[in-house]
Amino acid sequence: MKPFYVTTPIYYINARPHIGHAYTTMVADAIARSRRLLGDDVFFLTGTDEHGQKVERAAQKAGMATPAFADEVAGAFRQMCTDLNISNDDFVRTTEARHRKAAQALWQRVVDAGDIYKGDYEGWYCTVDEIFVPETQLVNGTCPTCGGKVERLKEESYYFRLSKYQQPLLDFYAANPDCLQPHFRLNEIRTFVEGGLQDLSISRTSFQWGIPVPGDPRHVMYVWFDALTNYLTALGFGGDGDDRVARFWPGVTHLVGKEIIRQHALYWPAFLMSAGLLPPSRIIAHGWWLMGGAKMSKSVGNVARYQDYTRVFGVDGLRYFVMREMPLGLDANFSDEGLLNRFNADLANDLGNLISRATTMVHRYCDGVLPAADAGDALDAALAVEAASVIQDVLGEFERCQTSAALQRTWELVRSVNQYIVKREPWALAKNPTQRALLDTTLYHAADMLRIIAALTEPVMPAAVARIRTMLGIAPEPWTGLAPGTLAPGTRLGKTEALFPRIELTVEDLRAMSQSENPPAQAPAAEPAHPVGTPATAAAPAPVAAAPAVGEPRISIDDFMKVELRVGKVLEAEAVPKSKKLLKLTVDAGTEQRTILAGIAEAYTPEQMVGRTIVFVANLEPRKLMGIESNGMVLAASVEGGLPTLVSVDNVPGARVR
Ligand SMILES: [Zn+2]
Repeated sequence: MKPFYVTTPIYYINARPHIGHAYTTMVADAIARSRRLLGDDVFFLTGTDEHGQKVERAAQKAGMATPAFADEVAGAFRQMCTDLNISNDDFVRTTEARHRKAAQALWQRVVDAGDIYKGDYEGWYCTVDEIFVPETQLVNGTCPTCGGKVERLKEESYYFRLSKYQQPLLDFYAANPDCLQPHFRLNEIRTFVEGGLQDLSISRTSFQWGIPVPGDPRHVMYVWFDALTNYLTALGFGGDGDDRVARFWPGVTHLVGKEIIRQHALYWPAFLMSAGLLPPSRIIAHGWWLMGGAKMSKSVGNVARYQDYTRVFGVDGLRYFVMREMPLGLDANFSDEGLLNRFNADLANDLGNLISRATTMVHRYCDGVLPAADAGDALDAALAVEAASVIQDVLGEFERCQTSAALQRTWELVRSVNQYIVKREPWALAKNPTQRALLDTTLYHAADMLRIIAALTEPVMPAAVARIRTMLGIAPEPWTGLAPGTLAPGTRLGKTEALFPRIELTVEDLRAMSQSENPPAQAPAAEPAHPVGTPATAAAPAPVAAAPAVGEPRISIDDFMKVELRVGKVLEAEAVPKSKKLLKLTVDAGTEQRTILAGIAEAYTPEQMVGRTIVFVANLEPRKLMGIESNGMVLAASVEGGLPTLVSVDNVPGARVR
């Protein structure tokens, strides 16, 4: 088996876990799970960074002994791993004996290489970031990174000859252009290194909460020298037992936030080169979660707790959102609106619909036993070709740790399968016994595609996928050999249940809940699972008091549900030249933008339309009018000969109307 080693940063225990820690850990988990599905020998490490002056002070402030404080906060990070279904193989704490051994062993190797010497250090020190800040980088006398106060410190210190590694680092970057991703990050680091490197102070005498320097216990190690070594600790480096360094090093993927790139892509490779080890093969730096356009921070008071979101959206709902929403490497917005929208549009609607349709019809038309497919026609062949291409693309995106792109591609398949079902109309085929073979073929492929979608989604939503497989009556399957058409006919399906019931809460409800310690019971818990044999979306239509002539002939709920009505928000509106009636609208449809032509120009000006919420038919075939392609139809009411009045609802773009 191919070894594969993936790490999160170890989390500094000055703060309790929040959504930022949760995000990095969930992404690393998805990467680890994807490699296990490929059959790799995976080692997935997370843990806590517990030393330094700041922890000492936080413990004092909490009125606790430092070790007891460290135990408590480290416990909260372990709990986070349990809460979020994290599959880490080890959890390293820098206060453990094995880590002290590893850090001291690394230090000794750097000493033996002649790269550590004693000197005096005086400078401006930020205790928040545990760094000396060069005078020229101070911003109005405060730390440029955190904005906090800096202190003047002078102390005896050991130095690491970082300057000696300027050229070796540049050579390493040149030979390994993929060692830091996204690539623009490597350019930033390279420019910094080319600017010249100064030796690095790597010990302190001003506090005691740290790992003693070998042979000079008045000094404790600089917290980054200590912390970075954790990646070797967990491989048994410096210990007397099982040493797995040769197996897993340097083929590691370090997942880090962009604020700690310098430590990982510059200090860490230099320490390792000095110690005679190779630098890490891949560092992937993700962006920050912004809330209301600002970086989450305790001082701003906009730090999101993961617990507030798992309570409403479930663990897999949160995992899906963060991995879909943030393209790795870039910043992304964390918002209640975004979560609600993604959950209801992608999970409740798109995936939920597919699961419900695919399984319910096998129960209804085949007594719950999967039929065999025949050769089918061009529609079936096209679906198989698309599925094969999606599988290949998604595996590639996971290889690049691009979960957002992987999910985006997977959901293209989800929508294609939904469209396939709509085009085939199995409910119509079922009425005609001569169409039995086509009905069976359709149901087979729908279920088989759902199997593939489940497999591709497993790293991100492992618990939900286990439930999909129970509904399909199938066992877990690896990614090796994943291909369309391998689901066995004759498989008996399990009971259909609602996997992601729509969340009928407003953004205001969500805010109120995250501010209250005892939130009210949520809608999903109260909503019963859909029984087998009824459509998943069987919310009864509102009764209409109608004159006898209205509403005839009647249609089934299935017929109605074929019309996909969604909420949109008009971003831009303009008159269509040479047309009296048409306005051209650019509409935010939740997950995409659409151009829609609407025959409302006699009733509404373009100015009146911008910012307005509308309802439109989302699954109408595109149509060209006046040389412009319209992608949807806006709903409006009118009496015969009267002007139209737009239908509007108070909901977010992308919300489904039914
Ligand atoms: Zn600072």
